[in-house]
Amino acid sequence: MLIDMKEMLEIASKNGFAVGAFNATESSLFRSVVEEAEKQNSPAIIQVAPGEFEFATREFYAYVRERLANSRIPFVLHLDHGKTVQECMKAIQAGFTSVMFDGSALPYEENTARTREMVELAHQVNVSVEGEIGTIGVMSNSEEGGVENVTYTNPDEVVDFVTKTGVDCLAVAVGTAHGIYPKGFVPRLQLDLLEKIKRAASVPLVLHGGSNNSDDEIRSACQIGIAKVNISSDFKYAFFKKVNEVIAETGGFIPAKVFTPGIQEAKKVIYEKMQLFGSVNKAGLYF
Ligand SMILES: [Zn+2]
Repeated sequence: MLIDMKEMLEIASKNGFAVGAFNATESSLFRSVVEEAEKQNSPAIIQVAPGEFEFATREFYAYVRERLANSRIPFVLHLDHGKTVQECMKAIQAGFTSVMFDGSALPYEENTARTREMVELAHQVNVSVEGEIGTIGVMSNSEEGGVENVTYTNPDEVVDFVTKTGVDCLAVAVGTAHGIYPKGFVPRLQLDLLEKIKRAASVPLVLHGGSNNSDDEIRSACQIGIAKVNISSDFKYAFFKKVNEVIAETGGFIPAKVFTPGIQEAKKVIYEKMQLFGSVNKAGLYF
């Protein structure tokens, strides 16, 4: 079944677990997430960034929507990092149940005003909105973008931003970066800052750039109050590593033979993440 982000994260927050949000742009990666969610009885979020949306084309999401709507598992179909109203409206038109309006690169007042506009539009058609304050770092191999230097979310701004914009959930910058970290780089989450933000926030919190952070840090973040963790690079990397190996070994070109081992590897990572977030066997809470 297809639900909005507000319902998905309210139940997760209330029950002390987080839901994984997996970036899936084509059918093998999409199937990996959906089939593993069904196997593990775990709620899940399918998300795409605007560039991925354009790559897959709007028609692809007719299939995605139908597959999710007909599943017994609760899913959200979400636009990750929409930067303009137009990008968000295209996703809403394609049947997404949630959009992120990312105005984090704008001056604070402008981010607040433009996020408010998007919330007013989206809520009229029952679509949830994720906002962001502070900025998330970026590694050169990431599609989602970000900035070189992370600006941490200011807890004092959280109350003001949530009240003025009416967002349903909030992405916070506590020291993660998008993409796979280079060898030797040790990412550190500012968990004490996260605790302060959690005390100030009245909406569920979102962690971006969670690939490669230590499991202990992510687990702690979920316990403190992160209700949605974005996972993009980790499971895609596992998929393509295997696909590359199969092609190198066999020169294979038959999709079922090349992609099936990749799907199996992606599913292993997805399952590990679902366990880490505590979402396994939580689907029943939504019925
Ligand atoms: Zn992100």
